[in-house]
Amino acid sequence: MTDQRVAIVTGASRGIGRAIATRLAADGRHVVCVSRSQGPLDELAKEIQDAGGSASVKTCDMSDFDAVAKMVEEVADEQGRLDILVNNAGITKDNLILRMSDDEWDDVINTNLKSVFVACRAAARPMMRGKFGRICNIASTSGLVGNAGQANYAAAKSGLTGFTKTIARELGKKNITANCIAPGFIETDMTKDLPAAVTDHIKGVVSTRDLGKPNDIAAAVAYVTSDDAGFLTGQTIAVDGGMTMC
Ligand code: NDP
Repeated sequence: MTDQRVAIVTGASRGIGRAIATRLAADGRHVVCVSRSQGPLDELAKEIQDAGGSASVKTCDMSDFDAVAKMVEEVADEQGRLDILVNNAGITKDNLILRMSDDEWDDVINTNLKSVFVACRAAARPMMRGKFGRICNIASTSGLVGNAGQANYAAAKSGLTGFTKTIARELGKKNITANCIAPGFIETDMTKDLPAAVTDHIKGVVSTRDLGKPNDIAAAVAYVTSDDAGFLTGQTIAVDGGMTMC
């Protein structure tokens, strides 16, 4: 069994997840990088190792629930421990409510919400065995204030906040914390094709920089998953340049 804390980061192949994996490895965790695509994960693991960090790779489709449970159990078995779970993998399938199909609804709910339930359920046992756990679920400001065209996405992300509060209550006595980080608009593939009208609106309501960077989210995740954050649980922290403050 490794002495390092072991972290699973889902959706690590690019964007915010890649930044989170890189940051947790720089902070001394062994990071298990998870997504559907092997190539970018291998590149990331090599980059982490070349920088002196420790990483391994698992491919997993987070909408395949049996595969998710198996992936978490395998990591705990292979590494002999599981300390940190960052549920970051996510998709959008935007449409206005009148046009939204059942498949668009189900795909987003399954990938962004049900997968998190399945992963946390599988992670709870090894974390309880280790008497330590840090769960961080990546929500969204869309789940806090809504966003036209994202009924499915906002429902999933808002669902994460209630889910996270509940497991924080259930698992707190076992020294397992659970929090959400809710990013605002962050420069990644997910936001690169936003229409100008949307980015102009964001520029008008954000108090600091226009768009955030993946590292802004990684820094927040690094703190809530650290040993120092044992008194922080059940919270949703918006990292959004002040967009949703009231
Ligand atoms: P990207 O689209 O850049 O990356 C998404 C990541 O999720 C990829 O690594 C992708 O990997 C993985 N992924 C998607 N579907 C699956 C699946 N079924 N199984 C496994 N992995 C999957 O998104 P971002 O980095 O922008 O977003 C990361 C998280 O942050 C998401 O949960 C998103 O909702 C949230 N967020 C992002 C915001 C933003 O402005 N960018 C704002 C608020 C929240 P692969 O395709 O290789 O499987």
